[in-house]
Amino acid sequence: MRSQNPPEKFRFIADQMLGRLAKWLRLLGYDTLYLNPAPDGKLIEIAKEQNRVLLTRDTHLMERRPIKKGIVRAVLIRDDAWEKQLAQLVSEFGLSPRKFRDSPFCGECNSLIQEISKEKVKEKVPLYVYQTHDYFSTCPNCGRYYWEGTHWERINEKLGSIFGEFSQASSKD
Ligand SMILES: [Zn+2]
Repeated sequence: MRSQNPPEKFRFIADQMLGRLAKWLRLLGYDTLYLNPAPDGKLIEIAKEQNRVLLTRDTHLMERRPIKKGIVRAVLIRDDAWEKQLAQLVSEFGLSPRKFRDSPFCGECNSLIQEISKEKVKEKVPLYVYQTHDYFSTCPNCGRYYWEGTHWERINEKLGSIFGEFSQASSKD
């Protein structure tokens, strides 16, 4: 077994090109801010103040002095597709996925979500969802409800292949 940093170790801030990646990182349990619009100076300032890794598609941003000097850690995301973007981060940071319902962060707004009892969501979610699920969470900020839907099985498969590829690749060294 290869030891990995716990997921809590990395916090991210994503530029306006990376909304989808930001959402995925949150759902996987990583605290990820997303700014849109996201002026370069603001991204760098927040990354520095909050000790976040800056994720960007912008090569010019990578030339900014605090990044060049290593004061702010930044990653140039190379691909347009979120799967490949996530794969890049898995490779560079050794990210590991949490089970979906264990993520503390709202995919929409990055607030801390809270587990909520099944009875309390009865009027809030579709009946079919209520009848077929036991674990629910809600976001106190945007009011979104979360449950582990069947589409997550397909998504988990996809994620499994993204994470699996890299654990195989890294076991060679
Ligand atoms: Zn939210």
